[in-house]
Amino acid sequence: MLATMTAPTVSHWTGVPYVGAADRVEDVTNPATGRVSARVLHAGVETANAVISAAETAAREWGRSSLTTRTRVLFRFRELLDARKEELAAIITREHGKVLADALGEVSRGQEAVEFACGIPHLLKGSYSEGVSTGVDVHSKRQPLGVVGVISPFNFPAMVPMWFFPIAIAAGNAVVLKPSEKDPSASIWLAELWREAGLPAGVFTVLQGDKVAVDALLDHPAVKAISFVGSTPIARYVYERAGACGKRVQALGGAKNHMVVLPDADLDAAADHAVGAGFGSAGERCMAVSVLVAVGSIADQLVAEIADRTRGLRTGDGTRGTDLGPLVTRAHRDRVASFVDAGEAAGAKLVVDGRAPQVDGDAGGFWLGPTLFDHVTPEMEIYTEEIFGPVLSVVRVGTYDEAVRLVNANPYGNGVALFTGSGAAARAFELDVEVGMVGINVPVPVPMAYYSFGGWKQSLYGDHHAHGTDGVRFFTRGKVVTTRWTDPAVQPGGGPELAFPQNR
Ligand code: NAD
Repeated sequence: MLATMTAPTVSHWTGVPYVGAADRVEDVTNPATGRVSARVLHAGVETANAVISAAETAAREWGRSSLTTRTRVLFRFRELLDARKEELAAIITREHGKVLADALGEVSRGQEAVEFACGIPHLLKGSYSEGVSTGVDVHSKRQPLGVVGVISPFNFPAMVPMWFFPIAIAAGNAVVLKPSEKDPSASIWLAELWREAGLPAGVFTVLQGDKVAVDALLDHPAVKAISFVGSTPIARYVYERAGACGKRVQALGGAKNHMVVLPDADLDAAADHAVGAGFGSAGERCMAVSVLVAVGSIADQLVAEIADRTRGLRTGDGTRGTDLGPLVTRAHRDRVASFVDAGEAAGAKLVVDGRAPQVDGDAGGFWLGPTLFDHVTPEMEIYTEEIFGPVLSVVRVGTYDEAVRLVNANPYGNGVALFTGSGAAARAFELDVEVGMVGINVPVPVPMAYYSFGGWKQSLYGDHHAHGTDGVRFFTRGKVVTTRWTDPAVQPGGGPELAFPQNR
């Protein structure tokens, strides 16, 4: 109670901290201790409208500012971020729980999107056709949308927003970021960095809150586009509601990522990568490997090697050099543990049980150790559900074809990896698999910022992936201008022409 009263308040941001009269307040907890570390405001509709209005005002001027002005701010932001990324990583570890090295990795991957956005003058270049008809030229351009909304999940409080806002801002839009209420402080740190970089007030705003804030963004007519990342049911809801309001939407959802290991793979490397991709960030990554598909006779050896490595991992406070931190909330920790119970009850073989881990950390933290299941079958709940925790399930199949059928039958299609020593198998896999991001001997194939990030099927609603050239298209709209400059002395007008104009 005392902690709640003395904890700092995380407010909204309109260029300066903003507090609405009717805001609600909720605790933010440090998952490594279970203690309240801050209190976050939850916006009502009135607050949401005020924040959106600040963005709307700023968007008018920012959208007409020169490319030089915009890129200079972007470069300053990049330099400040690079110099101070440890501060941001510490905030992420405090509120999310992921270990510091992982938090730093998150910031660095987000920074890559800022670096991509620094090249906006090149990315926005239009095309030009001279003399499409006599005296007529055509050129195309891309212009900003105005105000755009970014709604982000708890698991990447810095990187996921940075998939979107650097490009949106560079392209001349104003952004309203609605971060996860579970770890909201990174958003305000980033907002302050923008101010320091010289971004005009209102171009980057933050709206804290829950469903009320999200719905206000989805419904507001000034918000022209929504970039959402979160669970599949909410992604679908956001896609439908914002679409019904006439907005363009990209809504990235959940995942169940498979790592297929063929008999000719380097098993040592495969075991290392399975453990890293399965248990890194305590499995709270949309690109985490949650299913390992062992093909053919290698399964016993592979499971033994993974189990060995899993038992050697250290669970604990992310500031103490451990391998994996706590889960984000007590409720989420208990939910993930209940999947372990369900897997055991369904008859999967529990090879490593993380339910009562040895922990280097406070007894009040939301701990769950890495857990390994073997002999998982596709109808078990631990296979069908996105667990989003440190639980790796091994499914055994006989052939490559069976493995591909399994992956393709899954309703999600975010990421997938194939481990093999055969170029021919890898090439076939690239063609066969119905998943948006594919790794060959790469377990977590998160694309570089200059490519686009996005899954297939229930992992993404909308037709634009995040960042890369898809991001530039998403945050701009095209215009084609047809011009006629003729010299009346050379080509006098021939009077009105009512037939549909033809090119000559
Ligand atoms: P979530 O869906 O619970 O929340 C995401 C955002 O939606 C948050 O800002 C939250 O405040 C808001 N929200 C929650 N419930 C809502 C409701 N009923 N109406 C309107 N808004 C609502 O997701 P999460 O638990 O924060 O994040 C984990 C999920 O995100 C996982 O499913 C994970 O796979 C997914 N994810 C996907 C990607 C991807 O790129 N596809 C990346 C990261 C996370």
